[in-house]
Amino acid sequence: MKVFKFGGASVKNADAIKNVASILKEYKDEKLVIVVSAMGKTTNHLEDVVKSFFYKKADPFEALKEVKDFHYKVMNELFEESDDIFDRVNDTLVEIEWVIEDEAQETYDYLYDQIVSIGEFLSTQIVSAYLNKVNLPTTWLDARDVILTDNRYREAQVDWAATTKNAVAKVPKLLEKGFVMTQGFVGGTSENFTTTLGREGSDYTAAIFSYCLDAESMSVWKDVPGILTADPRLFKNVTKLDRLSYREAIEMTYYGAKVIHPKTIKPIQNKSIPLFVKSFIDPKGEGTMISAIMEQRYPPMIVVEKDQVLIHVSRRDFSFVEEENLSELFHLFKAHRIKVNLMQNSAISFSICVNNIPERVDKLLVELEKEYKVIKDDNLELITIRHYKPATLQEMKRNKMVLLEERIPRTIQLVVRDTPLMERI
Ligand code: ADP
Ligand code: ASP
Ligand code: MG
Repeated sequence: MKVFKFGGASVKNADAIKNVASILKEYKDEKLVIVVSAMGKTTNHLEDVVKSFFYKKADPFEALKEVKDFHYKVMNELFEESDDIFDRVNDTLVEIEWVIEDEAQETYDYLYDQIVSIGEFLSTQIVSAYLNKVNLPTTWLDARDVILTDNRYREAQVDWAATTKNAVAKVPKLLEKGFVMTQGFVGGTSENFTTTLGREGSDYTAAIFSYCLDAESMSVWKDVPGILTADPRLFKNVTKLDRLSYREAIEMTYYGAKVIHPKTIKPIQNKSIPLFVKSFIDPKGEGTMISAIMEQRYPPMIVVEKDQVLIHVSRRDFSFVEEENLSELFHLFKAHRIKVNLMQNSAISFSICVNNIPERVDKLLVELEKEYKVIKDDNLELITIRHYKPATLQEMKRNKMVLLEERIPRTIQLVVRDTPLMERI
């Protein structure tokens, strides 16, 4: 069996869903588990519902109406009015209405997962109903019946043993009848509460199913021809990589390449399952194959992480930052769920570059200031170049002030700020 994953862009409207069906027609006789994300920007809209509800800043029903109208528009283009998909979608939406009718009693993260996960339930109901309508028999599977997680809402951790047991017990049977479609991004706790695996987590869901079911391969269908040497939204003259090793892929995604969720590679690497990144716009295109094959040479590859903060920590009395201090600092990073993207230490200071998540970073700074002198630089970018060449490096530094630079074999990282080139008036 194979696992396919279709992301938000591939199911963003009725025509896109028809295109997905036409791709799947080519795989009619294969055993396929198909993981689908929420349609288009639905997850962002549902985040607005949660924020309006929890912080009482705006009417959550207004925000929900947008989601509702959007899904009804898509359904009106794909189905007859009498089709029972309308009732199913309505039942799913009513579940959120019940939640937001009352006062918010539970934690933000818990409510977030109960509400935001609805995007994937709506999309999979609609897409699977459409596939059945065009004679591609598809069973809808509730991901919560397979992916068991802990209750760390918004970044739930998978119980691999229980998930494998569920997958093996449930999925192969269903595959006898045709395709199996399930939600990306979603899991469930042993108490039957819904959890989510982190933003952009549908790729990871596909990897979980691939791992648990020993898939022959996994394919993610994207709006790009494959993995490119940089994000085409940020760079011109990018080229497609035909092959990439697991190692290279994990490095790129770890540094922030937005094309695949960083947790995706480990499970498929552990079982040597090849991962294909394919284009839903050009489905016949070769795409990129990620596998154990190591290439001799790679072109320079660039990853840009925007909205970075550089935090410099030093002791007030000019003494060294010692092991004991470092241990204390890392303890604080962990406690505030700070991911360190880059770090550097000198005799008397220690610097870290982190994503600017104000609710975490601000609390960390308050803690740090109790003991240390702290300086914060913001509005920065972290540029990572793998397999760099002098010309690429020079180009990356153009019009930038470099605040921190670090080189390790095959990788250079720069923390930079835009500095417009001064011109004589
Ligand atoms: P999905 O719809 O599956 O969630 P994403 O939108 O998350 O897909 O990922 C695809 C996007 O990733 C592309 O549109 C592209 O802009 C971006 N991207 C960032 N870095 C790269 C890269 N190195 N190669 C290809 N695409 C990239
Ligand atoms: N729908 C979720 C998100 O937008 C998961 C995903 O698309 O991968 O983050
Ligand atoms: Mg994505």
